[in-house]
Amino acid sequence: MANQSGQIDAIIIGAGHNGLVAAGYLARAGKKVVVLEQRDRVGGACTLEEPFPGFTMSPCAYVVSLLRPEIIRDLELHRYGFDAYIKDPQMFVPYPDGNYLFFRFLTGLQKFLTLFCWRNLPQ
Ligand SMILES: Cc1cc2nc3c(=O)[nH]c(=O)nc-3n(C[C@H](O)[C@H](O)[C@H](O)COP(=O)(O)OP(=O)(O)OC[C@H]3O[C@@H](n4cnc5c(N)ncnc54)[C@H](O)[C@@H]3O)c2cc1C
Repeated sequence: MANQSGQIDAIIIGAGHNGLVAAGYLARAGKKVVVLEQRDRVGGACTLEEPFPGFTMSPCAYVVSLLRPEIIRDLELHRYGFDAYIKDPQMFVPYPDGNYLFFRFLTGLQKFLTLFCWRNLPQ
């Protein structure tokens, strides 16, 4: 939302999630905001990359732990595609030799179960 004079009220350097949240609140308050980002995409560390063809993942922030619920509500993030869900399994760690590691959260038991899957172990 632009102000009446057309002047810029705030310039935010960096379109990480903190910069974007600040810009969102300022814009909702009627301020004219410009966000400058050096990369070719917004989101900072909370973005998506494709390190291997066909696998899209966040290089850093892979859980929504630091995004406060009131921000999700105030900025109506669900209207823009925000969705949070419990991952199951929580983590999959493949090893170059074909072995892998699963971290799985068992809701009923309220504890973590770690599954080491060593494919080459004798049966
Ligand atoms: C390994 C790792 C794992 C993490 N895991 C999680 C997680 O699971 N869940 C979670 O909630 N948080 C996680 N975090 C923390 C989270 O990534 C940070 O809290 C969050 O990214 C901080 O957001 P920010 O907007 O302050 O900075 P950043 O995300 O770092 O964004 C800064 C932005 O500013 C841009 N920028 C910098 N300088 C300039 C400039 N001079 N001109 C233009 N643009 C500029 C950068 O390109 C970048 O886009 C993790 C962090 C790390 C390092």
